Amino acid sequence: MIAKKFTIFGDPVEHSISPKMHTYAIEGLGLDATYTKTHLEGACRLRTIFLESFDAANVTVPHKEAAFAQCDEVRGVAKEIGAVNTLIKESSNMIGYNTDAEGFYRSVLDFGEIKTALILGAGGTSKALSFILKSKGIEVTVLNRSEGRLKDFQNYKTFNWENFESSYHDIIINTTSAGLEEESLPAPESIMIELFSHTKYAIDVIYNKETPFLKMAKAYKLPTKDGADMLLYQGVLAFMLFYHDSYTFDEILPFMKKAF
Ligand code: NDP
Repeated sequence: MIAKKFTIFGDPVEHSISPKMHTYAIEGLGLDATYTKTHLEGACRLRTIFLESFDAANVTVPHKEAAFAQCDEVRGVAKEIGAVNTLIKESSNMIGYNTDAEGFYRSVLDFGEIKTALILGAGGTSKALSFILKSKGIEVTVLNRSEGRLKDFQNYKTFNWENFESSYHDIIINTTSAGLEEESLPAPESIMIELFSHTKYAIDVIYNKETPFLKMAKAYKLPTKDGADMLLYQGVLAFMLFYHDSYTFDEILPFMKKAF
């Protein structure tokens, strides 16, 4: 058997812990494969490089939409989301999937029953999360800094900072990049006070960092989570696709967890 070759495409990609997660799973399950990082500044050659050199791959920022556009076929929720984070080579075709959405949903399930959610931000991650939560019967509201990107959320209740109206939501989800590099909240403090006063749980998709959003949620004594479980679960789901479901979620999980 020829060793399988996997990679992650991104820019930047140096910080990614996906190679570590997947390598733990490959070694733990006794498989013959390598998982590398591929730094791609532009995405125009992504499909060519993928089909020439790899059996399967992950895609991270900023190439998820470009990868979607270059796929020969897109399967599952990725079709509605318009972004892929997992690629599989099948008979010289590039097949795309999105495991971010399901990975996130599984991480939210740990909290308990959720009926209503408020998502901060209207970028690619917000699109994936709003779609999966709505598809599971959860009522989703999206709040964004500016109006522009909210036009992509026609089927949702939406607010910008100017016209925001407060109400109760079971969970508040931060998908903005506020707090990633600088110490800022994802909305003005007055709005954050309203949000945290009328919710049960808070989750930030940023991982490996206690953001101002998470610090404030903790000050309100809310159960919180960062994006580590989402990252872990999307990786497990991608690995299942890499090996065509030869391994179950629970078989892969303990190995990948070692990367955290
Ligand atoms: P996008 O660039 O597509 O969207 C960014 C959104 O954040 C926009 O709605 C933008 O608002 C808003 N925003 C940016 N800066 C601020 C700010 N300072 N204050 C308020 N709002 C702001 O980003 P992505 O959706 O691709 O990624 C978002 C985050 O999700 C990143 O931090 C990324 O690391 C994380 N992520 C985590 C994953 C995981 O597995 N845990 C997986 C994928 C992403 P506007 O429209 O007004 O510009």
